[in-house]
Amino acid sequence: MPPAPDPTLFDKVVNLCKRRGFVFPSAEIYGGFRSTYDYGPVGVLLLRNVKEEWWRSMVQLRHDVVGLDAAILSPPAIWEASGHLQNFTDPLVDCRKCRERFRLDKLDDPNECPNCHAKGSFTEARHFNLMFKTYAGPVEGTGAEVYLRPETAQGMFVNFKNVLETSRKRPPFGIAQIGKSFRNEITPGNFVFRTREFEQMEMEYFVPPDEAEKWYEYWCDERLRWYVDLGIREDQLRLRAHDEEELSHYSSATSDVEFLFPWGWDELEGIANRTDYDLRQHAQASGESLDYFDPALGERYVPYVIEPAAGATRTAMAFLMAAYDEEEVAREGQGQGESRTVLRFHHRIAPYKVAVLPLSRKPELQEPANEVLGLLQPHYMCDYDETQAIGRRYRRQDELGTPYCVTIDFDTLDDRAVTVRDRDSMAQDRVQIDALLDHLEPKLS
Ligand code: ATP
Repeated sequence: MPPAPDPTLFDKVVNLCKRRGFVFPSAEIYGGFRSTYDYGPVGVLLLRNVKEEWWRSMVQLRHDVVGLDAAILSPPAIWEASGHLQNFTDPLVDCRKCRERFRLDKLDDPNECPNCHAKGSFTEARHFNLMFKTYAGPVEGTGAEVYLRPETAQGMFVNFKNVLETSRKRPPFGIAQIGKSFRNEITPGNFVFRTREFEQMEMEYFVPPDEAEKWYEYWCDERLRWYVDLGIREDQLRLRAHDEEELSHYSSATSDVEFLFPWGWDELEGIANRTDYDLRQHAQASGESLDYFDPALGERYVPYVIEPAAGATRTAMAFLMAAYDEEEVAREGQGQGESRTVLRFHHRIAPYKVAVLPLSRKPELQEPANEVLGLLQPHYMCDYDETQAIGRRYRRQDELGTPYCVTIDFDTLDDRAVTVRDRDSMAQDRVQIDALLDHLEPKLS
């Protein structure tokens, strides 16, 4: 039995994100800007860790995937060939009564306006193209139009030949990319789940056509496992295959990795068999041949593409939701009951790995505290905090999800030992400064 979604979790996480510096509404001093968000001092670390872990598993730990960082601004020719100008649309309906606009396929009841609850008030659905258009150069108008990419994938397809010629990779091989994408979503919302500007982590895996099915299954399994390995419980994840009507214009099969968000199951990532659609389209439109001659088989073919496409910002939100916990604890040091909020991040995802906390701001503690910080910083992202009672500082680090706190106290001056406090068990170990790196390494490696 999967756990029931917890509707109260959403507000708790959104509040914590603001309070602790994970995510701020963009342009907040001007009243905010339309479902756009900025990642604060802690959020930027979380997001970097998500992207770093993806890159590590998709590129660093493999021999068959290389990286790419393609331009965001792109000419209409790319989107004409890819089919996005024609097909990258959502069905838009207007409520005739309250004038609000909605995406028809995301409404619970397609006959009832969720804003004013009028029934049968919607206009006919129109195809609304989600791509942001702008102009390059000083003259606006036809010929100067460019698009902000709505997915990173096309950068990989149009560079297929360049990568094939320079990287010495042969199918099956992949090209991976992390970067911003832009979609003029009709109804952004649910915090950073759906925004108009977001970050994607996509990989195009080029395979011989008759191996496409096998690699599709392989990447579905691999991608699901990635979330589990980084600490999301298996019962909070599922793989859901798209039915025929749901498939994108380029796909012959797609499965979504879904997470149990507070509002129910929703998509984190799509794994699609994009067939040879994109390479054929670009070959035809550009006049460049984008096929591959396999010397072993003596055959020329256009590779099929298996694409795991995840959202970095959406995934960061899922890690936050999955990590959130509240528990009653004895007050550390005094034994009175109190509740604490703790983000139980996997240590690879945690923004800070260690917090260095001198017990007081007295000058004599600063020297050993700086020594400890200098020892740890080359290895781990550390926070440093020297104000407030130590119990409150532990609670703050719990809310940031910091796995270890290192406290420097007055005994440190005599015995050169510090207290290492574990986030989850709250157990405290006394460790010599000289042995601190060896103590932390097996826990954080
Ligand atoms: P949806 O059905 O939610 O609109 P999609 O199926 O169109 O998403 P894809 O084109 O498969 O999404 O994009 C791959 C991934 O990029 C998604 O699984 C999601 O994690 C992320 N993503 C897509 N659109 C957004 C968005 N507007 N905001 C944040 N992340 C997004």
